[in-house]
Amino acid sequence: MSDTELSFSDTSLNNEVVLVCGGAGFIGSNFIRQILATYPQVTVINLDYLTYSGNLDNLKDLEEDSRYHFEQGNIAHEATITDIFKKYNPTYVINFAAETHVDKSIHVGALEFIETNVTGVYNLLEAVRAHCVKKYVQVSTDEVYGSLQLGTQDKFREDTPFAPNVPYAATKAGGDMLCRAYHNTWHVPVVVTHCSNNYGPFQYPEKLIPFFVLRMLEDKKLPLYGDGLHVRDWIHVLDHCSALELCLLHAQPGSVYNIGTDNEINNLEIAKLILECFNKDESWIEFVGDRPGHDRRYAIDSTLIRTQLGWEPKVHFTTGFKDTVNWYKDNVQWVDAVREKTGIFNPHIDLWKEHNLKK
Ligand code: NAD
Repeated sequence: MSDTELSFSDTSLNNEVVLVCGGAGFIGSNFIRQILATYPQVTVINLDYLTYSGNLDNLKDLEEDSRYHFEQGNIAHEATITDIFKKYNPTYVINFAAETHVDKSIHVGALEFIETNVTGVYNLLEAVRAHCVKKYVQVSTDEVYGSLQLGTQDKFREDTPFAPNVPYAATKAGGDMLCRAYHNTWHVPVVVTHCSNNYGPFQYPEKLIPFFVLRMLEDKKLPLYGDGLHVRDWIHVLDHCSALELCLLHAQPGSVYNIGTDNEINNLEIAKLILECFNKDESWIEFVGDRPGHDRRYAIDSTLIRTQLGWEPKVHFTTGFKDTVNWYKDNVQWVDAVREKTGIFNPHIDLWKEHNLKK
């Protein structure tokens, strides 16, 4: 489809009922806050199972907002989805709900990933198919494309074949494939997005940036996988959310968009930037054995969403990164509550480290 064939809708989310699945997690909670701030007449239903990474504290400021409703439930349970659709009759659906931690998919197992990331998506697609939903956005990841070589200019495009290397990515690819099939078979109004690594406030501290910041706050070293030269294209969560909002409103059903900011940084550089924020030297980095299936490099070609939907990222990495580190430093209550609830930030990396510490 060419750019000129696209008909841009001028609708807004006012007077619409938006079902957000997985809205108590990192990206979902930022998304909910953003659309409630933008559309005074939107109704938001947050369906979240509250797994270890789901946290109602992420949305504490919205508890009294009459436009916001929380329901605890599992997208992998068909009856739950049927009830939610019957009760609220959503006009837009966006799915953030997922098992998201690569290390967990390796060290604990893939079954929960298959249930949520594949069966859960199937249940949502069936419900969307049976109701008058205007758009369903499936929030996916660049990890489905596999790995790129270091030192090349290659980037993932929307037509890059899927080549997932870890169970997490394979299950996300499975959900994405179902979306494609439901659109092609039954014209279900699905849009799939593939975004790169997000950073920002409210991220569960098993992921690299909050994990390292919280290690610093506890005066602990930063364990870095392998040689630390694994490259990711870092995007601020609010830029991801603005891209998703455009997809929800204006993307053509059946379309796929890659989202990234051409901001390639390796994990060693991220570690050094965090050390700088705490005035610590590189002796605080501890190299540990590499993770199995560890993808070397991700890079995103986001030309399509920029040209077709007019998306532009707004947050500059230098500012966004410093603000993010400060957010975790300042929000002691949030950090302490997460620590109390889960006990340990990243059991998988600690487990792995025990067996792989380089001599
Ligand atoms: P997260 O782990 O912070 O949040 C996931 C949320 O889903 C949690 O609130 C959890 O309780 C909920 N959930 C899990 N299983 C559920 C189930 N069966 N039913 C209902 N709710 C369930 O994850 P995130 O980082 O916010 O990621 C959100 C989405 O974005 C995921 O689909 C992920 O694949 C995708 N994504 C994330 C990134 C990133 O860098 N974090 C990048 C690209 C894409």
